[in-house]
Amino acid sequence: MSSIIVALDGYSSCGKSTTAKLVAKQLHYAYIDTGAMYRAVTLYFLQHHISLTNPREVRKALDDIQITFRRHPVTKSNDTFLNGLNVESEIRKMFISEQVSEVSAVVEVRHAMVAQQQKMGKNKGIVMDGRDIGTVVFPNAELKIFMTADPLMRAQRRQDELLAKGELVGLPEIIANLEKRDYIDTHRAESPLRQAQDAILVDNTFMTIDEQVEMVVRLADEKIGQAVRRDRNSSTYE
Ligand code: C5P
Repeated sequence: MSSIIVALDGYSSCGKSTTAKLVAKQLHYAYIDTGAMYRAVTLYFLQHHISLTNPREVRKALDDIQITFRRHPVTKSNDTFLNGLNVESEIRKMFISEQVSEVSAVVEVRHAMVAQQQKMGKNKGIVMDGRDIGTVVFPNAELKIFMTADPLMRAQRRQDELLAKGELVGLPEIIANLEKRDYIDTHRAESPLRQAQDAILVDNTFMTIDEQVEMVVRLADEKIGQAVRRDRNSSTYE
């Protein structure tokens, strides 16, 4: 079976994970939310008062962290587990959003997460969303999408998401958080957020979720077709 890797990168709250999840479902691919991994690490670091400027402490903490994804039997959502505990709702809260970009900029953290993500996608057939998937984690991904949207629209979407989970946060606070995270994510020394040269830019400000999903699935189908032809040709000449 000629599977591909779909890499979805972009700024915070651009609807990457919503799109990625639905695209994975349609393609019958696995979905990995790499942001959830960095959020889980942040939760652990906060709980254990890990100093970001102490590489030895950071490395030891990373050794003690196990992140897995499991399908919730009732909600059917793909929940994040930190050392066997379901932390899905905790890691989406504002106190994590406030710290996650600083934690994600630490070199040791990036190396550990990238290595795990590469392992998860080694057999392809995966949709992964994040900040560095098309540039660092899978620079040879067959399909790379870089998502962007109007900042106010992104903030409103984020506010709705938080509200749906019972957290009421004002727009100015959300806008400040998105700006801060985007700034740190694009300016860090290790694997900064940037559009890969071969990524397709999608501005979804005026697109519905259905339109985005349809577009990415269509692009993925084209790439899967190319992979099938390539594999067929290579087996003919073997
Ligand atoms: O995708 P989400 O907004 O949940 O990601 C939370 C944070 O995790 C981002 O703001 C970014 O700092 C970090 N992140 C990252 N690299 C990734 C995914 C997320 O640095 N591949």
